[in-house]
Amino acid sequence: MSVLIFADQAQGKIKKVAFEAIQYGAKVAAQTGTTATALVLGEVDAAELSALGNYGVTKVLHTADSRLNEVESGVYTKIIAAAAEQEGADIIVFPHNFDGRAVAPRVAARLKAGLVSGAISLPDTANGFVVKKSVFSGKAFANINITAVKKVIAVMPNTFPLEKTDAAASVTAFSPAINDADFKVKVSSVQTVSGDIPLTEAEIVVSGGRGLKGPENWGMVEDLAKVLGAATACSRPVADSGWRPHHEHVGQTGLTVRPNLYIAIGISGAIQHLAGVNGSKVIVVINKDPEAPFFKAADYGIVGDAFEVVPKLTAAIKQL
Ligand code: FAD
Repeated sequence: MSVLIFADQAQGKIKKVAFEAIQYGAKVAAQTGTTATALVLGEVDAAELSALGNYGVTKVLHTADSRLNEVESGVYTKIIAAAAEQEGADIIVFPHNFDGRAVAPRVAARLKAGLVSGAISLPDTANGFVVKKSVFSGKAFANINITAVKKVIAVMPNTFPLEKTDAAASVTAFSPAINDADFKVKVSSVQTVSGDIPLTEAEIVVSGGRGLKGPENWGMVEDLAKVLGAATACSRPVADSGWRPHHEHVGQTGLTVRPNLYIAIGISGAIQHLAGVNGSKVIVVINKDPEAPFFKAADYGIVGDAFEVVPKLTAAIKQL
């Protein structure tokens, strides 16, 4: 038995969520007295690959095929299952991000494995193989005992703080038997449509709602985000109205984010919005209505007009 971790990359850079999954997988390996191997698909610098040892793996398998630079869930499933077989891995760990959500269930089905997605605990092996996840939009927890021999775990981003070391990993080429026919979808070009910081990876998110009145006022959201090194997000009506692009919409029908700090400006705090943000470590709400429901979910609240508060906040942070 061993542990295999799918280490997700984008544009040749390993994602932070992959570091978290690797660290999680290495801890599971230590817990179960086995070894952990990371698998990277697509073209990535050799230095980045050996640095994955910083998070606890001693070995990295790498398939440096340019056709794999973008995730294609069918062929990724085939390769990850082949790597699991080669390594004799009974436990396969993914990040629970967009790519992990697309691929982990397919790998689980292919290997006839039990799956826990959105894991927020290491397995409790004293009582079977019990992994905790949050359910009902963060309102309850479920403890799931994976009884199947093979187990797939997708780790909730920003749940386990990174503990980086100086250790390096050995990198081995992995050459699965794939051909062009395995690629059901071909990505011909990729356009980056948002800022430098991907929303689901951001440590800080500044988010605006209908209280901002119109797209012409988004400059102050972007200014605050810039001084904080944050990504920007929005409520659904803002995206539906075309004030902001849909990929910035968070909530039940949008992205789920779990940053260390979520700043909500002019957002009422409807349950459907909270569903996508209530895993944030600290929530700051700026709203002119003291009765806005969001204040109940907030760690810090500022009752005031966003058009006065936000520029002052940005100016004050610039002084720091
Ligand atoms: P509003 O509810 O209009 O709130 C605006 C807020 O701004 C108010 O609290 C107001 O007091 C405040 N405000 C106004 N002016 C100022 C000012 N000058 N300064 C400071 N504050 C001010 N919503 C999502 O966000 N994400 C989802 O994924 C989502 N999914 C949904 C799924 C379903 C099936 C349904 C039915 C709804 C969904 N919604 C979702 C919509 C959700 O119910 C709310 O309607 C929406 O979140 C409200 O957006 P808002 O807070 O920006 O706007």
